[in-house]
Amino acid sequence: MTISTRPKILIIYTGGTIGMMENPDTRVLEPFDFDHLIDNVPKLKMLDFDVDSYPFEKPIDSSAMNPRHWGDIARVIEEHYDEYDGFVVLHGTDTMAYTASALSFMLENLDKPVIITGSQLPIGEVRTDGEENLIAALQVAAAREPNGEQTVKEVAILFQNYLWRGNRATKHSADNFDAFKSNNYQPLATIGLGIQYHRGALLRDRGENPLKVHYEMDTNVMYVDLFPGIPEHIVRHLFNTPGLKGLVLKTFGAGNGPNDPWFLDAVKDAVNRGIVVVNITQCSNGSVLPMRYLTGADLAKCGPVAGHDLTSEAAITKLMYLFGRGYDASEVKKLMETSLCGELSV
Ligand code: ASP
Repeated sequence: MTISTRPKILIIYTGGTIGMMENPDTRVLEPFDFDHLIDNVPKLKMLDFDVDSYPFEKPIDSSAMNPRHWGDIARVIEEHYDEYDGFVVLHGTDTMAYTASALSFMLENLDKPVIITGSQLPIGEVRTDGEENLIAALQVAAAREPNGEQTVKEVAILFQNYLWRGNRATKHSADNFDAFKSNNYQPLATIGLGIQYHRGALLRDRGENPLKVHYEMDTNVMYVDLFPGIPEHIVRHLFNTPGLKGLVLKTFGAGNGPNDPWFLDAVKDAVNRGIVVVNITQCSNGSVLPMRYLTGADLAKCGPVAGHDLTSEAAITKLMYLFGRGYDASEVKKLMETSLCGELSV
């Protein structure tokens, strides 16, 4: 591990509101180039560490992100890993939690901070939240312990007053500055007058193995969100989607679903055809406890794996990652119930 005396941080700019400007003709926000963003934050010159930047050639709205873009971010981190003490990724908020979850799985043995942030208002606007988020993200990426090691050694989302574990966070507000939340895990740090790290919550001792980046993500996965009255022909049609390998089933409460025989049969049939069905709750907080109610127990007997308290972003990206690694259905099932990088509490 390289520890320079003066921290060096790389900003990777992918796009998002933080760097957008209003098109004067259409009044629509459009991604703008990185120089515009940096020109609007003169305070960057006051930081007592070195900051370089890597702007994506074509900054994008994060709603246009796909696993290829996750790979592009991971590649920049891999190629510059030894040169920098930490990384700040500027990203749109809409799919930030998916990118954060995906990167947490793709960057195996990560032992440096990868702090993802963005903003609700463009950085050029008077009331922008972008400047504070960017500065705080850089400070977190540069933070060190008394022994010189980085304080944060994982993928995290910094937004307004909190630092969240990336694979535990969700965008919960389309318009508040306080846009992200982790419903099942405490913040890694609280940003107030100072930055208070909750050290017991951080991933520590990440081992001595070198960073290994896994680029392959298999997108033959999907969600099915249950609702009372969901018809059999729709469920069977979805469960028989050609090429489908993994299905995140969003169930009621503690992991319950309808106990109609056709529904249980459809789940059993999907599992028997080798599809990995992962049961997560539709509730924003809590975990599936499939054996708590008869309806959950009936469903559990059909073979889905419990997603415990995974966020839906972490559940779908973890399936993409595990199938991308080439694991077979039984290995994927086992690993879905195992915490790989702090994404679930078992
Ligand atoms: N649509 C924007 C994006 O996700 C929203 C934002 O950045 O907050 O890129």
